[in-house]
Amino acid sequence: MFVTVTVMSDKVYQVCINPDCRQTFGIDEILFGCPKCDSLLDVEYQWDRLNMPESLEFFETRWATKGFRAEGHLDFSGVWRFREMLQFVGKDDIVTIGEGRTLLEENDLVAREVGMKPQRLYLQYEGLNPSGSFKDNGMTAAFSLARLLGRKRVACASTGNTSASLAMFAHKTDPPMQGIVFIGTGRIAYGKLSQALDYGALTLQIEGDFDACLRRVIEVSDKLGLYLMNSVNPFRLEGQKAIMYRVLEARNWDVPDWIICPGGNLGNCSAFGKAFKEMYEIGLIKRIPRLAVIVATGANTLYQVHETDAVKWNGGRYDKGKVSALYKHMDETNYLPHTIASAIEISRPVNLPKALRSLEIMNGLVREVTDEDILEHKALIGRYGLGCEPASAASVAGLRQLIREQVVSPDDSVVCILTGHELKDPDATVKYHTGIDMKAANPPEPIPPTGRCANPPRKVADDLQAICAALGEKLPD
Ligand SMILES: *Cc1c(COP(=O)(O)O)cnc(C)c1O
Ligand SMILES: [Zn+2]
Repeated sequence: MFVTVTVMSDKVYQVCINPDCRQTFGIDEILFGCPKCDSLLDVEYQWDRLNMPESLEFFETRWATKGFRAEGHLDFSGVWRFREMLQFVGKDDIVTIGEGRTLLEENDLVAREVGMKPQRLYLQYEGLNPSGSFKDNGMTAAFSLARLLGRKRVACASTGNTSASLAMFAHKTDPPMQGIVFIGTGRIAYGKLSQALDYGALTLQIEGDFDACLRRVIEVSDKLGLYLMNSVNPFRLEGQKAIMYRVLEARNWDVPDWIICPGGNLGNCSAFGKAFKEMYEIGLIKRIPRLAVIVATGANTLYQVHETDAVKWNGGRYDKGKVSALYKHMDETNYLPHTIASAIEISRPVNLPKALRSLEIMNGLVREVTDEDILEHKALIGRYGLGCEPASAASVAGLRQLIREQVVSPDDSVVCILTGHELKDPDATVKYHTGIDMKAANPPEPIPPTGRCANPPRKVADDLQAICAALGEKLPD
């Protein structure tokens, strides 16, 4: 499918990531894999032919112009404030809803809990995006391209947050696009499902877990001409690079020692590696931080591939045989991923090769954490920070493990990405705090009824006594 595009098509193109193929395609070609060799595609820029700032400080000046002048709405966006880093779309085609206005919090209390020194741990709160997760960073980019290409219908398979974000952007575009959301029969957090429904997306449930769902949606989209918004869409990852620009900006452009993020379909960590490689090659940074991707033990494909089987990117010639052997084994044993962190309950991550590449670029490693760890650290983040959903807390749980292993030192500067908002999955939170033997639980204290029946009503004095007992205080005279 071709559409005439006038914007910079000779300076930016899609390219196959397989070093033995490297086939290039125009950005107007709607592809979600290389037609020649089936590898993933990248968006690539000829930086020397594009207008680029000399230093990262340049981007700060846009804080002063947000909301003003013709480009003020772009300066307001935490993605398009950095638009020179993703020049594949003209200013008039950009679809923005004010995404990426998130914050980096220095959090000494969580730091103390996990064994870090003060002023060394930073939490990047991506839950503060309009739809409540980091997915908005990618959606704004993919929607802008969809608009440029004149697409009317957009679709995704989702464990929840992708669909929430897609549904919100679809009804916000001008003219609106039809958003179509495919959810599998696996678990989906109610906060996320409620968003897709509320924002008016056509929501279709199809048989199978997330992985099966995604495979079918790729097929269906191709046949029905739906524009696919999953992270196999390389333009989405371009938007997600901005999370790293904002982390650096909030640190006064000081590169941290570590970036730690949860891994699901592995789009985010893929985008992070690309962001740092580009900044390094353009000469905007002098050092690249290390990356730790944290997966759940119940959905640990990347851990098995990178750590157990020691499969490394190897310049793109990684051991594909080991990966297919693992997938074959999963098929034969009818393996289904299982974790409370539904956003990362994925066993065949589509961006696995790009994640391996990021791990190479950023000298990274992978760790797995249990659901128990995830929930305990979620409670710590809730108690001492702004709160997050279960998948996000994997990052801090992973950090604790890496400190114990002495891979991360208490002195290192560490940024954990908190990918989604606390209220995405309130069931998980309440269940934890009311559960039995939960380490960091804060259960509600019942005030026992004192009267035998509701009528006559209980006396205030009786309640007061029970409340004082709960507070651990003496009843005032
Ligand atoms: C999508 C998502 C993830 C997983 O990110 P990937 O890019 O798929 O690895 C993690 N946490 C939350 C809250 C998400 O929505
Ligand atoms: Zn190829």
